[in-house]
Amino acid sequence: MNYDADAIIIGAGLAGLVAATELTDAGKKVIILDQEPEQTLGGQAWRSFGGLFFVDSPEQRRLRIRDSHELALQDWMGSARFDREEDHWPRRWAEAYVDFAAGEKRSWLHAQGMRWFPVVGWAERGGSLATGHGNSVPRFHITWGTGLGVVEPFVRRAREAEESGLLAFRFRHRVTALATSAGALDTVDGEILQPSDVQRSEPSSRSVIGSFSLKAQAIIVCSGGIGGNHDLVRKNWPARLGKPKHLICGVPDHVDGLMLGVAQKAGAHLINEDRMWHYVEGVNNWNPIWTKHAIRILPGPSSLWFDALGNRMPAPCLPGFDTLSTLDHVMKSGFDYSWFVLNQTIVKKEFTLSGSEQNPDFTSKSWRQVLKRALGGVPAPVQAFLDNGEDFIVEKDFSELVRRMNALTGDNLIHAEKLKAQIIARDREIDNPYTKDAQITAIRGARNYIGDRLVRVVPPHKILDPRHGPLIAVRLNILTRKSLGGIETDLSARVLKADGEPLPGIYAAGEAAGFGGGGMHGYNSLEGTFLGGCIFSGRTAGRAAAKAV
Ligand SMILES: Cc1cc2nc3c(=O)[nH]c(=O)nc-3n(C[C@H](O)[C@H](O)[C@H](O)COP(=O)(O)OP(=O)(O)OC[C@H]3O[C@@H](n4cnc5c(N)ncnc54)[C@H](O)[C@@H]3O)c2cc1C
Repeated sequence: MNYDADAIIIGAGLAGLVAATELTDAGKKVIILDQEPEQTLGGQAWRSFGGLFFVDSPEQRRLRIRDSHELALQDWMGSARFDREEDHWPRRWAEAYVDFAAGEKRSWLHAQGMRWFPVVGWAERGGSLATGHGNSVPRFHITWGTGLGVVEPFVRRAREAEESGLLAFRFRHRVTALATSAGALDTVDGEILQPSDVQRSEPSSRSVIGSFSLKAQAIIVCSGGIGGNHDLVRKNWPARLGKPKHLICGVPDHVDGLMLGVAQKAGAHLINEDRMWHYVEGVNNWNPIWTKHAIRILPGPSSLWFDALGNRMPAPCLPGFDTLSTLDHVMKSGFDYSWFVLNQTIVKKEFTLSGSEQNPDFTSKSWRQVLKRALGGVPAPVQAFLDNGEDFIVEKDFSELVRRMNALTGDNLIHAEKLKAQIIARDREIDNPYTKDAQITAIRGARNYIGDRLVRVVPPHKILDPRHGPLIAVRLNILTRKSLGGIETDLSARVLKADGEPLPGIYAAGEAAGFGGGGMHGYNSLEGTFLGGCIFSGRTAGRAAAKAV
């Protein structure tokens, strides 16, 4: 049999790059196909914030965070809530991933030149019971250089392999079918798309100028999730979460999920497709790059959160605590949007926007700028949203704030007196160092962590105190981002058929494989687990394929 390479990888995102470099390190010949032009190399990871989930890291220990494998596994399983027969491999991947995150993950990446900001972030805090969802301790490590810093070592290794002749990139190659010859899946067919000079992550043309057919002993599907394809998102949307009318998009158009259908047609088993990780704190990007471009606010815990009817949301629906419960709560209001109400003091310290371009200080590795963010006023990207973002309202006067909230949605659901009464009631609870208000208790708890006190969480204060003004309201939309389900794989990343047997010759990694197994997160993520999931599953697939060919 004449092969074009030892392995063909579909997708030049993080998972594909990691898999490719493991293969080329083993001396294997690799072709990486991607439907996008070369300038989009690195996929979503390049655009990402670069947050990584580590367990018991030196950064955590320096901040006196006591973390452990046991605690992380408790948190992971409490969040995943595996409850299906098809969770067999996802559960095993979850265990293997927590081992990796508590074991060699950091040192392996450190040896490749990656570094992390010394203050560890506390994402998905949970807010219910110790055995429930959420991170018991801060674990979100921001990579120095954000997403670019995560992708860089793997691009470097891939380019070296390209120079040595082991690796070939073929951009604008879109896979449309996988076929079998000699008893194994070894053929990749597709279309060659018109060359494109769009900027990174902008939508590129789908005009076809030719076709291709390539053969290899191993094929690795690393084509990402479905978050950019709202038809697929809606098709897979679980009935338990209602039916959102309006969705905005947290990923580029190339995250179209179509390759999953191609793999399924070739015999791959897709599982847990109804498990997805979409955020409730989405705002329309005033300066969009891709279709319906949305940015996620990574909020500190002090903003007040109201549903569309102006009812304050109860714990655990607090900013940054429990994404899925909050999505559920928002949808039960009968509307698909909600509101943050806060003030200038809070926005200065507690608003971070996700994405490499929204964090130029971390992305450019500038200590001076990072220090300015910690000590100074509103970060420039956040200020740009306050000035230009269609979802942001800044007003000194409370009645005017509410008038503009109603004008923005046209729904007229917010009653000024009702909203104000809830904020005043909350503000009264600030007078004592103890309170029945779960959010204020949570803010005080957060400030016991030095990292939050220094850079993330403002001292509890009265929202309506004019010294902290002006007031700010932000309309929050549902932003589609990650797929938690996908192609079922075993612990060697081999793609499985519906009968549980491996589909010979084919592997899957990254978001396409639900980050491993077909859904290692179960229902919920602890955050920072996606990039790491691509790295772990990409490495596993690359190593397994290298052994097999
Ligand atoms: C703004 C933003 C911030 C984020 N922040 C974080 C964070 O802080 N921490 C974290 O852990 N995660 C984060 N993520 C998530 C993370 O970046 C992604 O889940 C991850 O990068 C997915 O990588 P992947 O390689 O699986 O897929 P992708 O990056 O989507 O790459 C898949 C590639 O496959 C190509 N492809 C698809 N179909 C075909 C086909 N049929 N033929 C040929 N090519 C095809 C696509 O063009 C694409 O280049 C963030 C994501 C975004 C967008």
